[in-house]
Amino acid sequence: MSQTHQPWPLKEAKALLDALPPGGDGPVRFETGFGPSGLPHIGTFAEVARTTFIRRAFESLSDRPTELIAFSDDMDGLRKVPLNIPNGDQVEPHLGKPLSSIPDPFGTAESFSAHMNAKLQEFLDSFGFRYSFQSSTDCYTSGTFNEGMSRLLHRVQGVLDIILPTLRPESREGWSPFMVVCPSCGRNLSTTVTAYHPDRDEVSFACDGGRGGTMSGCGHAADISILNGNAKVGWKVDWALRWYTFGIDYEMYGKDLIESARVSSRIVRLLDGTPPIGLFYEMFLDEEGRKISKSVGRGISVDRWKTYAPVESLLAFLYQNPRKAKRLHYDVIPQYTDQYLGQLSDWENQDAQDQLWNPSYFYFDREAVRPRWQVNVNYSLVRNLVVCMAKDDPDVVLDYLNRYDTRIGDDHHRDLASRLVEGSIAYDRDFEADKRKLEIPKTEFVPALRHVVEQLGGFSGDDPEVIQSMIFDAARACALEPRDLFRTLYRGLIGQDRGPRFGSFVLALGVEQAASSIAGLAEQAEASLS
Ligand SMILES: [Zn+2]
Repeated sequence: MSQTHQPWPLKEAKALLDALPPGGDGPVRFETGFGPSGLPHIGTFAEVARTTFIRRAFESLSDRPTELIAFSDDMDGLRKVPLNIPNGDQVEPHLGKPLSSIPDPFGTAESFSAHMNAKLQEFLDSFGFRYSFQSSTDCYTSGTFNEGMSRLLHRVQGVLDIILPTLRPESREGWSPFMVVCPSCGRNLSTTVTAYHPDRDEVSFACDGGRGGTMSGCGHAADISILNGNAKVGWKVDWALRWYTFGIDYEMYGKDLIESARVSSRIVRLLDGTPPIGLFYEMFLDEEGRKISKSVGRGISVDRWKTYAPVESLLAFLYQNPRKAKRLHYDVIPQYTDQYLGQLSDWENQDAQDQLWNPSYFYFDREAVRPRWQVNVNYSLVRNLVVCMAKDDPDVVLDYLNRYDTRIGDDHHRDLASRLVEGSIAYDRDFEADKRKLEIPKTEFVPALRHVVEQLGGFSGDDPEVIQSMIFDAARACALEPRDLFRTLYRGLIGQDRGPRFGSFVLALGVEQAASSIAGLAEQAEASLS
């Protein structure tokens, strides 16, 4: 099989395997980052999901243990009050402090970031991701970062040499990688470092409002140890410190961070560490083609997606080439849900080698949680049933599906089938119902419709092809083009020009119900005359 078309997670995993120093036997570490100034959203989900695909691919190639660290930047200072939180006025007086020192505006956790961190873990747990959570604040205060911090201070000139040329000339003056948490007012965005004392792991600082002049300082000035959480380092240096301390082997990041990753890689080398490998991914686009940034979270939320389809269909969406920008909007849900179901049913007939090329291989951490799908039912079929029967009771729709294929009621199909039905009903209600117009057929089609009704009346088999050919026969008998008759049926029954294969659709609907609906169309056509 050609190397160029192999699944991208497998390609990434092979590159990772090649990049690992020989002879290691400790865990291979993957990392994803989370900014806890907001709730986790689809960008967070996408990063963890795609990293998990690669981890799964890696585990198919190597016996080395693996670990995925979900790292929360909860020692970052908060610059402005986020718009989407309650009690913003209570947060305002704490601007400039680390997120972990700001009271929780939701009033449920011990700090702003503790609230968001809990939400992150709840979110990741609900999808069954395997990960270890790390809090930046904990890493700094517990001393986990001490060795790296001391090393950074000893090599601070090297850090400056790397970072300063990347800054605008007017920003270089007085810039320091270290951000001291002022012991007097608790802010870390309001301090400036004025001297370095590597011999005693200290810096001199002043709480003078910091750089940029948007913050006000309390005026405190002192020498202070940079260890044990008294100080942190700024973003690109922070990223390098994490890679260095945890020995991160793989991390992917958005296209907007390519330059940051380059700078952080140089810093980790300065520390005598090795930068991780990883790919950068394109951003998602909203319905108008604007980029959805990780922090804004426009587009569609994971929860909303789950309302309309099994969440694994979102994995099918995310599996598409991460290097291509993709529109992330409601209208992609049906397509990816059908893709996902197709992958599940392909799986049933594939040998182990081919299964490795089935995208769904990468979705499930353990095969035990893989849903099985051996029935000839997809999201389009279910949605069309929902439309045609005008039913919003999931049990009724499930009954229909069960009559169409009795395996739907099996233990291993039932759960996924229910989620498809509930999702279809919600999707139709929220996006389709209002704009749909069922079209009353033209009177010239009445004889053909009656012909079909009559044929269905005498039909008792279960071969969709026989029903399919009834339409051709009826069209021929009435001197109509078959495709015009199909279109008339679809427009009348589901308000679309095209639909699922008609024979299967009639079987799913039930022959009697279908005959009665088509007879109804013929009656409407005649009534529209008078
Ligand atoms: Zn201060």
